Amino acid sequence: MTSPTPTYGKPIRHTLYVADLKCYLCGSVTGSIESEHALTATAGGRHPVVLRRPGQTAPLRLLDWTRLRCSRCGGPLFLDDSDVVTRRVDEYNWLDERPRRGRPPKRLLEQRRLERELLDREADPQAA
Ligand SMILES: [Zn+2]
Repeated sequence: MTSPTPTYGKPIRHTLYVADLKCYLCGSVTGSIESEHALTATAGGRHPVVLRRPGQTAPLRLLDWTRLRCSRCGGPLFLDDSDVVTRRVDEYNWLDERPRRGRPPKRLLEQRRLERELLDREADPQAA
């Protein structure tokens, strides 16, 4: 992320395999994992995955998710809601988005506030 050359109009595509880690016993979701490899191929520590837990903003690098246990009851976990997502990473200069001069119109401020709230809610759906 330290590339000094700005690139435009050339989005990078990452294919990611994502899934929730759900408990066999109590059904609670301990977190979600993502990997650039098919998740079945990541079992046994062959490829590290990225673990995100609810309430924790910093993702964790995890070598073998199959060793994880349910954070609530200690039960074994299985992959639920597995999905393949293509994440497009635009090299976009957000500074260009700034208003050139003066204050942005009230309408815009309100719209941005709503978008922020929406994003916050999406980041933590259980709080809603
Ligand atoms: Zn459990």
